[in-house]
Amino acid sequence: MIFAKHAKLSTGWASDVRLIVADGRIASVEKNQKPQAEDVIVDTVLPALGNLHSHSFQRAMAGMTEYRMAGKDSFWTWRDLMYRFTANLTPEHVEAIAAFVFLEMQEAGYASVGEFHYLHHQPGGTPYDDLGELSSRIAAAADLTGIGLTHLPVLYTYGGAGQSPLEAGQARFGNSVDRFNELVALAEGAVAQLPDDCRVGIAPHSLRATSPDDLMAALAARTSGPIHLHIAEQPKEVEDIHAWLGARPVEWLLANTAVNEDWCLIHATHMTEIETVNMAKSGVVAGLCPVTEANLGDGPFNGPAYLNAGGVFGVGSDSNVLISLTEELRTLEYSQRLRDIARNVMVVGEGSVGDTLYSGAAKGGAQALGRGTGEISVGGLADLVAINSAAPSLCALRQDQLLDGLVFAAKDDVVTDVWSAGRQAVQSGRHVKRDAITAAYRSAMKSLMASL
Ligand code: ZN
Repeated sequence: MIFAKHAKLSTGWASDVRLIVADGRIASVEKNQKPQAEDVIVDTVLPALGNLHSHSFQRAMAGMTEYRMAGKDSFWTWRDLMYRFTANLTPEHVEAIAAFVFLEMQEAGYASVGEFHYLHHQPGGTPYDDLGELSSRIAAAADLTGIGLTHLPVLYTYGGAGQSPLEAGQARFGNSVDRFNELVALAEGAVAQLPDDCRVGIAPHSLRATSPDDLMAALAARTSGPIHLHIAEQPKEVEDIHAWLGARPVEWLLANTAVNEDWCLIHATHMTEIETVNMAKSGVVAGLCPVTEANLGDGPFNGPAYLNAGGVFGVGSDSNVLISLTEELRTLEYSQRLRDIARNVMVVGEGSVGDTLYSGAAKGGAQALGRGTGEISVGGLADLVAINSAAPSLCALRQDQLLDGLVFAAKDDVVTDVWSAGRQAVQSGRHVKRDAITAAYRSAMKSLMASL
């Protein structure tokens, strides 16, 4: 049982709310109550966001690629370093890093994660004896931390647009569609050991790392579940796909596949107005990763046109250069303000930008991860976050201003408690297994850095 002085329910703000949680779901919502002896008492409860896009291992190289060397650094030189780094990761490293990254997400206020998992094989590209070894490591990290995992094994077959061969740095990622389907079945087995809110989807990496035939074959093998894909992160990607397939990536995907609510398009950064409107109308989730997109110099999302067309969006921490829910949301808005030389951009008509961003990302994140509606209502998963509205950064705000305060004026340290499908992992702002998971991460990093 949870008692909250303030709660953002599917029906709006309410006071003195008791939530009864059973089997991971919200069994009842009662307003204007008094706390009972057995209740966990919190200040303000919100639907917790799902972090819809993560490559957990990349957290380990945060801060290592911010130094400019001869010429101008670019996304593509960043990727080259990432490939060198991945050559030395062991299964033990992968698990320890993922557990720490999931812990950081939970402490930031995320209840779930979409782990877009493309590191599959041994260095050099030979599969492990268990083809699903590294998927099992991700599942183990989720089990340890209690986060709600949507595991997204990645189909990565080619080195670039036009079915060019994998580069040496990509050998650990590569699979044919047949071997990928085997791997997905093994991942399903590993995730079946986790609580039943956890699930498996698929992630054809991008149009450039698959082919039209392979993409159709991979889609044909799935009857349900989330489908995630990197779509249009960099202008070069758009040019390459256009030269190869005769259409821009979003344009091509919408014309050639049945994109719908099960899909999440990551980095829909470079779109024309028509692509933006058509993508919004498809019901797909736009998977925005504002901190990483800023870090990599990708460019801003076409937010106003997408929102005006009714588009659904969520946020992800992607490269995990910084894991911060508040930074992610405000970077999204600030990227729009800087481009448009305007304020209060990510809102339709009049209203709260913080509410539009937070509640929108809660709904879109839940949709993208197969976790329901992203609202607090009876029957929904108990993915909940509590924040402290008495913190100095929020204490002067009315209830209806709290999400503006959270997004623009607060840091993640206002988060006090987090539940994933009812499993409480964060109490008093700390993950309950913080010390052990952090120690294992430090040890893994020491071993990894010694091997580079
Ligand atoms: Zn990504």
